[in-house]
Amino acid sequence: MSASQTGSFRALKARAAEIHHLTKVAWVLNWDQRTMMPAAGATGRAGQLGTVARVAHDLLVADEMARLLDDVGAYEDGLDLDSDDACLIRFLRREHEKARSVPAQLRAEMIAAAARALPVWDRARAESDFESFRPYLERNLAQRREYVSCLGETDEPYDHLLDEFEPGMKTAEVRAVFDELKEGLVPLIAEISEREPIDSSCLSGDFPLERQQEIERRVLEAFGFTRESWRIDETTHPFASSSSISDIRITTRHQPGDLHSLFSTMHEFGHGLYEHQISLDLEGTPLARGTSLGIHESQSRMWENLVGRGLAFWRHFYPQLQEVFPSFADVELDEFYRAINAVRPSLIRIDSDEATYNLHIILRFELEQELLAGDGDLRDLPEIWDARIREYLGIDVPDVADGVLQDMHWAAGHVGYFATYSLGNIVSCQLWERIRDELPDLDDQFEQGEFGALREWLGENIHRHGRKFPPAELLERVVGGGIDPQPYLAYLRAKLGEIYQLGGNHVSPKSPLLES
Ligand code: ZN
Repeated sequence: MSASQTGSFRALKARAAEIHHLTKVAWVLNWDQRTMMPAAGATGRAGQLGTVARVAHDLLVADEMARLLDDVGAYEDGLDLDSDDACLIRFLRREHEKARSVPAQLRAEMIAAAARALPVWDRARAESDFESFRPYLERNLAQRREYVSCLGETDEPYDHLLDEFEPGMKTAEVRAVFDELKEGLVPLIAEISEREPIDSSCLSGDFPLERQQEIERRVLEAFGFTRESWRIDETTHPFASSSSISDIRITTRHQPGDLHSLFSTMHEFGHGLYEHQISLDLEGTPLARGTSLGIHESQSRMWENLVGRGLAFWRHFYPQLQEVFPSFADVELDEFYRAINAVRPSLIRIDSDEATYNLHIILRFELEQELLAGDGDLRDLPEIWDARIREYLGIDVPDVADGVLQDMHWAAGHVGYFATYSLGNIVSCQLWERIRDELPDLDDQFEQGEFGALREWLGENIHRHGRKFPPAELLERVVGGGIDPQPYLAYLRAKLGEIYQLGGNHVSPKSPLLES
């Protein structure tokens, strides 16, 4: 290989590093805005974030980038396909081509429109007034149609929106997976609804903030949170972010009347750990991030639900919870375990249990395709929403604040995002089956408060690769197949079958997923 070829690769990598650093600058600015910044800083911050995004975009679409990508062709031919350098070149080529297809003007308008829509949505939700938000939603959708038309032929227009969040995923594939998921969930939820509801009243009460922080600290430290590399701060809508592989920021929102934040913190830990265990060889390149939102969510759901709502975890931590909150002194572990796993259809997606949550997602996935197609009048959207919630969950929506206006995603222009939440649930259980095969004594370890083996398995098999492989390829490498909802359905049937003492084939006591 010639000196000029390696020289071109070095120049390409240096440019990629600048793009990556700008992305991380934006993440820190965003983290600051949502945890520290006084409200009046919003206007200044919008300008700063806009500038950083524009400079990064200019670097990505520049002619110099095109030239470097051409020049490294010969160098690339000599590389192992799985090498860091080959993966980086493939990744940059795809990003560059995609970014070049969309006019800079449209991108800027999309960002500006979302910034204008978010405060309007916030007020509309507070006042239960869909009509004031409707023109902004109309605008965001029109821009997505224009965006899709820039990106050329595909099986379905919605593919391009999905691709933003789950690279390579096709609408038809998600539809098939969700149909199968729905087929399994609907009868399971119907059967549970005929059972005596579980009493979850032990989860409400007086839980002082310092004590919540105390139990949270013990859990996080057992999971692998260290002061050297992690922070946890308060926010309104919890999220995880990072400045680098060695600087992870998670957030939480403590409420004195319930313990929800403990589970939400375990969730954000899962996101943080993914970013923290990426190979240091990838640091400073755009590959030093999780590969997709779906795979990311598989990690957060794993720590929140498969670990944090499991019996083995609580066999270790429940005595500590009782010590920190004496109100649990008279609550048996079994009763607590049932309470944290109770199934109860909710109007609100983020308050939903493990089973009904997915119906919220499927509803949004179906609606988004209809919204993108643009058939129908947006004025009818609240009514359509309410009818679907009744059909899917059997509950009435009292107002738009708890209905169609509950999520910020559409205001932020994130159409195509929701599906990744359920894809994450599904993938978490596919990985879990593999993990339980390879680490058969996982329950014993959790009961001892040991989570190192799980952490290392995830680091070795998923995290270290960063964005080297697209999500479908990563999944194929780890589980030897594509996305499959059956392990997730088997997990729910086993766990909920035991909790609700469901008869027939819902109970499968030998399931590898069921903790003894
Ligand atoms: Zn998440």
